[in-house]
Amino acid sequence: MPKAAKQKRNAASGPYDRKASKSAGSTNIFRFDKDYGQHILKNPGISDAIVEKAFLKPTDVVVEVGPGTGNITVRALEKAKKVIAIELDPRMGAEVTKRVQGTPLAKKLELILGDVIKMPQIPPCDALISNTPYQISSPLIFKMLSMPNPPRVAVLMFQREFAKRLVARPGDALYSRLSVNVNFWASCKHIMKVGKQNFKPPPKVESDVVRIEPFIGSARPNIAFEEFDGLLRIAFNRKNKTLRAAFSIKEVLALCEKNYKIYCSLNNIPIDESIVEDATIDDDEVEEADNGMDVDMEDDNDDDNDNEAENDESGEAPMDEEEDDDMPAFFKELKAADDAKAAAKTPARNPKSKVALIVRAKVNKVLTATKLADKRARQCDQNDFLKLLLAFHEEGIHFS
Ligand code: SAH
Repeated sequence: MPKAAKQKRNAASGPYDRKASKSAGSTNIFRFDKDYGQHILKNPGISDAIVEKAFLKPTDVVVEVGPGTGNITVRALEKAKKVIAIELDPRMGAEVTKRVQGTPLAKKLELILGDVIKMPQIPPCDALISNTPYQISSPLIFKMLSMPNPPRVAVLMFQREFAKRLVARPGDALYSRLSVNVNFWASCKHIMKVGKQNFKPPPKVESDVVRIEPFIGSARPNIAFEEFDGLLRIAFNRKNKTLRAAFSIKEVLALCEKNYKIYCSLNNIPIDESIVEDATIDDDEVEEADNGMDVDMEDDNDDDNDNEAENDESGEAPMDEEEDDDMPAFFKELKAADDAKAAAKTPARNPKSKVALIVRAKVNKVLTATKLADKRARQCDQNDFLKLLLAFHEEGIHFS
């Protein structure tokens, strides 16, 4: 679902305290709320196509995110056993309920009022359909891909820029953590272009419908979603830097150390936390001296491709804050702790525990053994990331 204006999710205080329902013309039931990505499909052909492309079976349970007034919902209800419609705006919830009231479709509809992203999980289903509110494009996909048993198929409408990110390949300007995840956990196909005139009110940008088919059962990679995604978060935190640089960051090493200690305690491996006296050199010196793990501090403009990627990155529409806010939460926490320490006037010299040095050496070993140290995230394909993750696991290093 395209955006109408640059808006942050949660910027609105909530459905109950915004403007009261208001008739905005003879055909409008009320004013559509752009903060909620409310752009209703007015072309029935597109609603038909979305449902058709899901190839629903009469036994299917469908989840629809954002039914609005029910344009897609009624069509899905005709084809499926049940539709669970999740709607944030109670006014819309009332509309879709009213639309099927007194018809045989009514008993097949289950309405859940709420924010799909705040739900602990998307309800188990065979198909997911949505004219997706632009603010939740990225979190919705991540939420679906992380389901232990994802749906067989998802047919989703997104703003065009976002849809392009889904199908981006290594080296493409729009290649991102999202692109790697989608293509690792699912196959993704562009279905059709949808012009803005098909919506009411018309959004500012064009849209695309995509079909995503998550790998299910034995086809699903036998890896924890959070592990693979955790690695990608680190790698794509600065996608134009080498992986060696990405893994030289203090906060990343601290995370690896923290998780390594958990791994050790779960596996009864003794941890040596004693301080190494001659390691009392500052971090940069360790990074340079430690097994040739020199820090890649090069400017992003050090080669032509970097420029290209940079330009395109700045052109990325902030369609959802989660994806744009590339700094993982643990970075923020660790950085905050670090800042607090600096404020407390900790001496610049930084003694290292033995376990910290072990972890650093392990990270270095993995990057060298996989021959990925000098590669940049934007050039790595999913096999590179998988190889890297398995090598880290071999060393007892985890990311979630
Ligand atoms: N499916 C309808 C309406 C699409 S507009 C059609 O195509 O005509 C998007 C809908 O998603 C709106 O009804 C909006 O209120 C709802 N919505 C927005 N954010 C949501 C969220 N986080 N969770 C559930 N529904 C949401």
